[in-house]
Amino acid sequence: MTPLPEPVPDVRLQGITKRYGDVLAVDAIDLEIAQGEFFTMLGPSGSGKTTTLRMIAGFEVPDEGTIELAGEDVSRQPPFDRPVNTVFQDYALFPHMTVEQNVEYGLAVKRVAKAERRARASEALEMVRLGGYGGRKPSQLSGGQRQRVALARAIVNRPKVLLLDEPLGALDLKLRQEMQIELKRIQQEVGITFVYVTHDQEEALTMSDRIAVFNRGRVEQVGPPAVVYEHPRSEFIADFVGVSNVIERGGRRYTVRPEKIHVLGDGDAPQPGARVEEGVVHDVQYVGPVTRYHVTLDGGGELQVLSQNLEETSSEVLASQGRRVRLQWRPEQEAVIVEREEERV
Ligand code: ADP
Ligand code: MG
Repeated sequence: MTPLPEPVPDVRLQGITKRYGDVLAVDAIDLEIAQGEFFTMLGPSGSGKTTTLRMIAGFEVPDEGTIELAGEDVSRQPPFDRPVNTVFQDYALFPHMTVEQNVEYGLAVKRVAKAERRARASEALEMVRLGGYGGRKPSQLSGGQRQRVALARAIVNRPKVLLLDEPLGALDLKLRQEMQIELKRIQQEVGITFVYVTHDQEEALTMSDRIAVFNRGRVEQVGPPAVVYEHPRSEFIADFVGVSNVIERGGRRYTVRPEKIHVLGDGDAPQPGARVEEGVVHDVQYVGPVTRYHVTLDGGGELQVLSQNLEETSSEVLASQGRRVRLQWRPEQEAVIVEREEERV
């Protein structure tokens, strides 16, 4: 039997590197992004996300490495020859044009006939739930609506890959959360591969099929949200995608997520096989639905514990400040840290 051919990834980066003078902005990155994937590049400011995205788009040329889009080497192609579109944080809509004219613009440049332009623009506007807004000017729209127009203007070109650089960064939290759900829906409906840049870990965890965590120009881990969150392979990721909660026992360094740790009641026996640590609560933060306990462990180190406030009142949880506690968790909730930050310097 002949094996099935390997599906060609929509984006393949091999050893791409970019320097600005002495700054190594992107350091030999390899990535493969599958067709139809919602792929997120997550990392702190300055970690090389935008530079990587701009190289995929063709706005920057890598010093080393190759970029393939759907199996074709585009490393030397100008941006307009690549099957990609970019959506930026500042929507960059033409203020003097109507919404419909903005959305049609790319097609007009490509000399698509007027009737088809109209049909495709109105289809794209329906897709972002702005049907009926075609006649308005950008100034007559809210921030969220303008970002939807920017999205419609990109998907109307039917790119293979849509590149989004912190597109929700200018919106307030509530609107941003609404747009996260909306963007995910649109991506699933149009089936276009999304490469999404953000520094917001919650945004990355909510929307992505897979996340690449960037740190200092390198990718430290690639995986589905649950894997990156529950099994961070480096201290940097443990800390950046959550809280670090790293402790060392018997020469082994590992992290355990705060919500996986339980505070044992006074008379309670630990579950068989559970990991148990004793310590003192040195800080308590009551955050409405949950409480965050900071516990200094007798065996060394400190852990944060997140506990749902199901029965407890705020005064009850706050009274636990200074108390001795026993913590327990299941050993399979531990993620071993394989990469130590100091080894990378
Ligand atoms: P991110 O998008 O993750 O915040 P960037 O890719 O924008 O990071 O930047 C990565 C590094 O490259 C930073 O140190 C930044 O200052 C530097 N850099 C980016 N663009 C330029 C440029 N045009 N000239 C000089 N340095 C740049
Ligand atoms: Mg950036």
